[in-house]
Amino acid sequence: MHHFSPTALETYQSCVQKYVYRYEDELYPPNRSEQAQVGHLFHKVMETLLKEKISLVDSKHTLMHAKQLMPELKPPDSLSSQGLDPFFIYQLTTDLISQQIQLEQSWVETTSVSPGIAEAKGTISVGPYKLELRLDRIDRIGDQFVFIDYKTQETPPSWKALYEYELLQPWIYSLYGLETYGADFLGFVYFLPKKPLIRPVLAFSENFHQSMLSFQKIKKKFIEPAQVHDHIAPLKKHITALMDRIKAKDFLCPEPPKSHCRTCSYKPFCHVLLDHHGS
Ligand code: SF4
Repeated sequence: MHHFSPTALETYQSCVQKYVYRYEDELYPPNRSEQAQVGHLFHKVMETLLKEKISLVDSKHTLMHAKQLMPELKPPDSLSSQGLDPFFIYQLTTDLISQQIQLEQSWVETTSVSPGIAEAKGTISVGPYKLELRLDRIDRIGDQFVFIDYKTQETPPSWKALYEYELLQPWIYSLYGLETYGADFLGFVYFLPKKPLIRPVLAFSENFHQSMLSFQKIKKKFIEPAQVHDHIAPLKKHITALMDRIKAKDFLCPEPPKSHCRTCSYKPFCHVLLDHHGS
């Protein structure tokens, strides 16, 4: 049986060549961007804080622990070897964590949420395939569960991309939530940094909708549960078709979207980019 991840499928959709570099050739970008480094470190710090049951809402205490963890989780040497200034990375990550603490405080006040489970894993079957999921965090509100995913860039995922299935992660996690937890699955939320406000942007549940509305007043960013159910069949068809293509090694790469190439880590040596755009 073939195993896939939501990220792999999104990568294949965004650029076939990028998928080939990353998942077939197992080529890791030579220089991970600062943003990627900060994202990685941020996730590691949040995971460790949760696992060590450090309060996420006590600003002084949480930040102090986070700062102590950073050198341990990402030794400066390994950052330096990639040409990045570790202290710059620490500074950016500290800034993100400060924002996250504000979010955690609002989150607890608004939802009476219990501390989360960090880095949960799961699998979901779609047709003859299995999708492997890695959830940043699962929170509990009463007897129900909310899936959390941290996004460390400031741009919220596009709503259009979600409805056109370019963005698959929220759908796949919600499918998993519905299949695994049934009525106890309350919603899926992205936590995004956005100075001076951090915003969760997506949720899939009516009850959750009510509580989240007062939290961030972003009504248009919610999908009602009935809509999720309407999407299950077409979504599974879409995902299965993608996995069929990957399994059949359909790796013909059309002209790459320039917007994707601009920020792509494989740009320095990508032959597809060179063939199409000559740079
Ligand atoms: S540089 Fe462009 S074409 Fe090449 S892998 Fe990246 S996104 Fe794809």
